[in-house]
Amino acid sequence: MTKDDKKKFSEDDIFQDLNDICSECKKIDETVTQNIILTGFKICESCRISKTIFPI
Ligand SMILES: [Zn+2]
Repeated sequence: MTKDDKKKFSEDDIFQDLNDICSECKKIDETVTQNIILTGFKICESCRISKTIFPI
């Protein structure tokens, strides 16, 4: 089961990394996770500000 455990850990690790990637500018930013909770959008702080000023 060691192999399965390691695989699962890797997938979780990748998923965690993806959570920090902005869907707008593709930059890795820790504010992306915060903005998912706050706004429901997977975007970084600068993209959030852009959307607030210029909503698409
Ligand atoms: Zn962004």
